[in-house]
Amino acid sequence: MKTRIEHIRLVTPDGIFGNASVLLEGNVIAGVSTDGTVLSADTVVDGENRYLSAGFIDIHLHGGGGHDFMDGTEEAFIGALENHMRHGTTSCVPTTLCCENEELAETFAACRKVRDSEKAARLPEILGMHMEGPYIAPEMAGAQDPDYIRTPENEDWDAICALAGGDLKIWTVAPELPGAIEMCRRLKDKGIIFSAGHSAARYTDVTAAIDAGYTMATHLYSGMSTIIRENGYRVPGLLEGSLLHDEICVEVIADGLHLPISLLQLIYKTKGRDRMVLITDAMRGAGMPDGGYLLGSLKKGQMVQVFDGIAHMPDGISFAGSVATTDRLVRVMVKDAGLPLTDVIKMLTVNPALELGIADRKGKVAPGYDADLVLFDDNINIHGVWRGGLQVV
Ligand SMILES: [Zn+2]
Repeated sequence: MKTRIEHIRLVTPDGIFGNASVLLEGNVIAGVSTDGTVLSADTVVDGENRYLSAGFIDIHLHGGGGHDFMDGTEEAFIGALENHMRHGTTSCVPTTLCCENEELAETFAACRKVRDSEKAARLPEILGMHMEGPYIAPEMAGAQDPDYIRTPENEDWDAICALAGGDLKIWTVAPELPGAIEMCRRLKDKGIIFSAGHSAARYTDVTAAIDAGYTMATHLYSGMSTIIRENGYRVPGLLEGSLLHDEICVEVIADGLHLPISLLQLIYKTKGRDRMVLITDAMRGAGMPDGGYLLGSLKKGQMVQVFDGIAHMPDGISFAGSVATTDRLVRVMVKDAGLPLTDVIKMLTVNPALELGIADRKGKVAPGYDADLVLFDDNINIHGVWRGGLQVV
């Protein structure tokens, strides 16, 4: 059974191709036409001259649709994933906050159950889990619960890896903590990506982290050190180290509120289109009306307030995560920051696929690639989502 999506403007990092069509067969892309050649198919979908791109990959999100992945239930995973899928996310890396290992165990177990269920074919693909903590700098905790912050001890991270059973893909660890560099050296060869974040690292800590194998920085600008003065001399922090070094790919919360448009433009100017990954960092309130929501699990979360398009901590001066969805990230970067659509789509497709080591099957609209696709209009409203060849939205 072959399906052709025709009359589309195909968006790729190399350009936008008008009157293109894409052929899906089974769960993969079987053909792409940008020169008017007709790809024969059993069924045809009219794209109505909208944009079609590879599906969006979100590597840092905590929940949505009223659910947090740390609720630790299949219902929570399914609810949050469905919410983000409606906005263009076709694969993702669900993310945890600092917590006890028992809560992690429940979350990893729920993740496995959902991923192995029949329902999984109609949900964004879970590409593994992202652990944001618990090895972070207390002074950079942000909205994280300080009770669960600790330093990396061999027995503890061994135990967490055992709980994860190979599903741990990204680990946000403050590299300046004692034991962090050793931990990175030991675990990066097991396929875990180390991301520097919630960190008070000084510049020398950043270069040591890069030497050890860190390749990412977690939500650039948020929860990280910047320049301080020691005896009059300026000492750069994690922010400057991340901007300077090409080895580091930076996560950017592009909801338009965590960072002003000028900083989004500055990151683009310094890191360029190849070393940025857009993330939602969405919490439970994403895709929901304004109101009070628990940040973290139902059992141990803290109540925060969602209004004006963002979640606020009770102190009223800091943010408690975003309520963004991936379509909004594209809208902000294109409409407000004025960046090329081709580059912005790259930051949500090819770039995260490359970081995760799955760029041979995800992130591109090309024959043989997973048929994960998003159809959207000029205002980046989603009109169709395909996941593994199935139209799910
Ligand atoms: Zn987060």
